[in-house]
Amino acid sequence: PIQPTEKIWHNGQLIPWQQANIHVMSHVVHYGSSVFEGIRCYGQPSGAAVFRLPEHMQRLLDSAKIYRMSLPYTLDELCAAVVDVIEANGVAPCYIRPIALRGYGEIGVNPTGSPIEVYIANFPWGKYVAGGHGGADVCISSWNRLAPNTMPALAKAGANYMNSQLIRMEADINGYAEGIGLDVNGLVSEGSGENIFVIRNGVIYTPPLSNSALSGITRDSVLTLARHLGLPIIEQSIPRELLYIADEVFFTGTAAEVSPIRSIDRIVVGDGNPGVITKQIADEFFGIANGLKPDRFGWLTPVKVA
Ligand code: PMP
Repeated sequence: PIQPTEKIWHNGQLIPWQQANIHVMSHVVHYGSSVFEGIRCYGQPSGAAVFRLPEHMQRLLDSAKIYRMSLPYTLDELCAAVVDVIEANGVAPCYIRPIALRGYGEIGVNPTGSPIEVYIANFPWGKYVAGGHGGADVCISSWNRLAPNTMPALAKAGANYMNSQLIRMEADINGYAEGIGLDVNGLVSEGSGENIFVIRNGVIYTPPLSNSALSGITRDSVLTLARHLGLPIIEQSIPRELLYIADEVFFTGTAAEVSPIRSIDRIVVGDGNPGVITKQIADEFFGIANGLKPDRFGWLTPVKVA
């Protein structure tokens, strides 16, 4: 269960957590009309810092634009709001959840008569993908990811997560930590809340965004880190069976961070232990996020917490 903090940012003001409520007849409740973000703030040797804050808030603005929601805040204002709510609550490390939704007003499907409400909450959140030291046991889902021309996969919209819930619940009842969704053509897309990377013969592969994957900020970070480390990395469509013969497979996401996968459909990945390339990338990622390695790409926004 979620651990409440004191304040939530709402339309420019900090309000008590308990008062951040919406009416049951709000447009979002009936039609899933929301766009949101998930961001992490990491502990640093001195203080704390938000990981890739402007990139996340730009993605929020992009998601809103796709759905014709005009948010009355600039990128800078949204980034400042995140820093404000973290500092007001004094809770870090934490997970940050900004959301823009269509509120109370219109009950028809056309949302133009409903006001847009923006909220930003932060709260403590630990490890997301279950799995022991060797990584997570996952499956291929019987559910496909969103088809192009139906729900836009590049928008991080609340409604997309009905598809994610089907994938995740099916995995769970069958005893897996997570499910991997294929796109409508049967090519690997992503997990219910994570992008995926596959390594074979020293080459790292990840599906391009055209395979119905979200434009993950962690995915982008891994692409950057791999290039910096001189590791060959290619955005390329991945057939399902490449997962079964891979040397290493890992998930990435803000919640998932860099999470090794130990088996897929009970077929063991490599020798069943996190591989060397996965470890190299994870070390670099956590090193920067936790302030133990230089922030050479300018990914961190410091926050002041007591
Ligand atoms: N795909 C989906 C469907 C997700 O929900 C997420 C989490 N936001 C990701 C990928 C990973 O994206 P990011 O690294 O930006 O958190």
